[in-house]
Amino acid sequence: MQITPNGHEPIVQKRTQDDLPEGGKVNLLGLSREELKDALRDFGIAEKQLRMRATQLWHWVYHKGASDFDVMTTISKDMRAKLVGHFEIKRPEVVEAQYSEDGTRKYLVRFADGNEAEAVYIPEEGRGTLCISSQVGCTLNCKFCHTGTMRLVRNLTAGEIVAQMMIARDDLGEWKSPTEGRMVTNIVMMGMGEPLYNFDNVKKALDIIMDEEGIQLSRRRITLSTSGVVPHMERAGKEIGVNLAVSLHAVNDAVRSEIMPINKKYNLHEVLTACANYPGAHNARRITFEYAMLKGINDSDQDAYDLVKLMRKYKLPAKVNLIPFNPWPGVAYECSSDEQIKRFSDIVFKEGISAPVRTPRGRDIMAACGQLKSASEKKSKAQIARDEAATAMTAVQENPTPHHSSTGLT
Ligand code: SAH
Ligand code: SF4
Repeated sequence: MQITPNGHEPIVQKRTQDDLPEGGKVNLLGLSREELKDALRDFGIAEKQLRMRATQLWHWVYHKGASDFDVMTTISKDMRAKLVGHFEIKRPEVVEAQYSEDGTRKYLVRFADGNEAEAVYIPEEGRGTLCISSQVGCTLNCKFCHTGTMRLVRNLTAGEIVAQMMIARDDLGEWKSPTEGRMVTNIVMMGMGEPLYNFDNVKKALDIIMDEEGIQLSRRRITLSTSGVVPHMERAGKEIGVNLAVSLHAVNDAVRSEIMPINKKYNLHEVLTACANYPGAHNARRITFEYAMLKGINDSDQDAYDLVKLMRKYKLPAKVNLIPFNPWPGVAYECSSDEQIKRFSDIVFKEGISAPVRTPRGRDIMAACGQLKSASEKKSKAQIARDEAATAMTAVQENPTPHHSSTGLT
């Protein structure tokens, strides 16, 4: 299903090769302000008009959400006609928009090259959070994460990251950018992919989203989640300045390395030291530690006490987000029982650290944490092995004749 951005018809312009820049029209979505000026300069706008023109366009694109030039009434018709021959403001296609019973909305977005990623809008009391993807797939293979079963297909560009915000606001009818009563009040970089492995594009996209003459979302309302890419954490604090969330999921290296292979590269000590040094982390702006509750793996009372010890040892201004594990087809883990999740939360809370249990949202449309996985699939070796084992197992179960024992699965 294609969502028409805020009622605007897609622009279909007849164009000749001569009036186009090499490679087609330049998409304004995702250009930084400087790049926008450069593009306008290349297009032939006089130096003394550059700032004004760039500001005008920026305002139309990011404050009012324009998706074509016709609506830009502050720009002369003549100029608009010229702009339309060289530039476009093109969102990727929304191939599917699914609405959950609980109000969660999941958008499957298809980019120009056919790759796809997902964005999820989660309405809550008094706020609405948009969960944005940074990559198609992920290079990391966290064992409990559906996205982790895909290989990295590619990084998303800044334009493709910003476009997820534009698409959600198109769908929610949220242009021009209101300052009060917004639907999308918060952004979490918690969709598909590891944002710190796509640092430059994520930074550029968030700078655009935070820009005061555009969408104007405050950095305090943006949270970037990392699995613990230590070398880029400090940089993220300094250069992007948003809230930090860290996928912890275990309290010792043995378990963490088992479920999150990146721990073999950057272990718990290194991750927690980077957290302690995260610029801007203090009690008023705590780091969120995400902890998926996996039955029999990381959910014992002792784990809860050890978690508190770790937070104290590194003197971390922390809050812990307990995520009931969201299952997906073929996964080897189960979610901890409600009672155990509650016990775990109480232990951590009694020791003085806030540890709310995150209510799973949009499970019915596979939109919950760790359930995202687009069809742009390149299976990882681990997943291919799992799939083959599952197929072989089904074959053995369905047809338990002796020759199947050759699969080794008897
Ligand atoms: N790659 C980043 C951000 C995306 S994942 C990261 O790993 O931090 C968003 C959060 O959901 C992470 O904390 C991730 O570990 C968690 N998660 C992944 N799969 C999950 C699942 N099946 N159930 C619950 N949480 C999951
Ligand atoms: Fe990648 Fe994050 Fe999933 Fe790990 S949890 S595989 S880092 S998306």
